[in-house]
Amino acid sequence: MCLSLYNPNFYQHRMLTFFILILWFSLVLVLALFQGYCQTPSRCLTVAQAVNQTRANCDLDAASMICVKIKFHFIKDPSNTAPFPSDQVYSELLAKLNDFLYRGKIKLILDQDCIDKRTINFELNGPRDLDDKLFYGSDANIAYYRSQLGYDENAFHVYSEFAAGGDGMALPGKNITYTSINAWHCMHEVGHMFALLHTHGWNQGVSPESYWECKNPLDPNDGSGDGLDDTGADPYSQDLAPKDGKPDYYNWINTTTCQQTIPASVPDKCGDTQTPWNIPVDNIMSYYPEHCKCFFTTGQLCKMREWITLRFPQYITSCAPTNACADIILTSPTKWSNGSKTLCDKQKIILRNNGSLTLDNYTLTRVTTNPTSPCQNLVKLANWDGIYLETNKNSVILKIIQ
Ligand SMILES: [Zn+2]
Repeated sequence: MCLSLYNPNFYQHRMLTFFILILWFSLVLVLALFQGYCQTPSRCLTVAQAVNQTRANCDLDAASMICVKIKFHFIKDPSNTAPFPSDQVYSELLAKLNDFLYRGKIKLILDQDCIDKRTINFELNGPRDLDDKLFYGSDANIAYYRSQLGYDENAFHVYSEFAAGGDGMALPGKNITYTSINAWHCMHEVGHMFALLHTHGWNQGVSPESYWECKNPLDPNDGSGDGLDDTGADPYSQDLAPKDGKPDYYNWINTTTCQQTIPASVPDKCGDTQTPWNIPVDNIMSYYPEHCKCFFTTGQLCKMREWITLRFPQYITSCAPTNACADIILTSPTKWSNGSKTLCDKQKIILRNNGSLTLDNYTLTRVTTNPTSPCQNLVKLANWDGIYLETNKNSVILKIIQ
C-alpha cells in the first residue's frame, strides 16, 4: 500500500539533568495518557453490524481485557535524511490503535515504554529485507541484525522507516510488522500481525472462485474468503459484472462517500440475487480508501484475541498500571545522592507537610539509564510533571558539584 511521504518536525530528545529551585516545573505537554490511557470507543463502532456470527467465536461482552506488549521502532538508514517522529506522534498513534481495538478488549502497551529511534549504518530495503535480516542467513548475521535493529522476543515489534509512506507487511506467525506510522496503515498491518486476512481474502488480481464469499455465509457454496462470516462478502478480488477477467476492485463503491453502489440483483457466485450486498468498505482489513476505514468486526476481534492468546501468550502483560509511575510524596526531609531516577509522563514529586528534598550528585531524567536496554534510544513518553511544594515550609536543596 503506497502512500505519500511527508516530513514531520525534527525531534531530538534530551536528558533533563540538575535543577535549580523549582516551585513548579510543568512542561505543559498535552499528550495522551500512556500506561493509564483511558480508552474510549471509536466513533465508528456502530457503523457496521455483524451479519452472521457463526465463525465469530467469542463473547466480547464476557471477555476480559488483554494487554499486549508492543515495541515501536523508527529506523533510519544512511539514505534517510528525514527527521525522527516525536514521542507525541507515537503517543497519539498508540491511542488511535487502542481506540480501534477497544471493542475487542485488546490494549497495546509499550514494552518498557520503548520508542526505539535509531540510525543504522546499512541499507534497509523495505519489509522483505527486514524479514530477511531478522530471520534468515547465518546465525552470526541474524544475531548482528537483531542487535542493530533492536529486536527481541519480549514483545510484538512495529517497524517503520517512514512517517506516512512505504509498503507494509506482516508475516503469519511472526512478531514483527513493517508499516508507516499512519494510524490506519499501522492498524491494518498490526491486524495482519494478529492473524487477520484481507476482507477480500486474496491480495491482487482476480482470486480463485474458491475464495469468493457469498452474501449469505451459510450458503454451502460460500468461499473461504478471510475465514470470517461477519465481514461481509467483498467483491474487490472477484469478477462479478461485467465478466471481463478483471477484478472488480472499487467498481461497487463510491470512493468519496464510501457508500456501496452494488444492487442486490448482482449475483454472487452462489447465484443469490435477493440478499443485499454488505461490502466491508469500512473495514480496516479491506483495500478500500483509507478515509472509509475504521472498523473491526466481532469475528476479527475474536480472531486477534485468539491468535495472541494461543501463539504469543508471553506477550500478554498485566493491565494494571505499575507503581513505578505513581506520584512520589515526601513528608519528611529526604536526600537523594549519587544516582538517578527515571520519571514517567505526568509523574509528580510532591513535598508535603515537613517534606524537603536534597539532590546531591543526582539526576532526574525521563531517559533510561539502563545500558542493557534493547532500545538504545529509549525514552519515556512525554515529560514528568515536576516538583510540587505544597506548603511554604518545604524546600528543594541542590548541592552544586564543583
Ligand atoms: Zn494488507
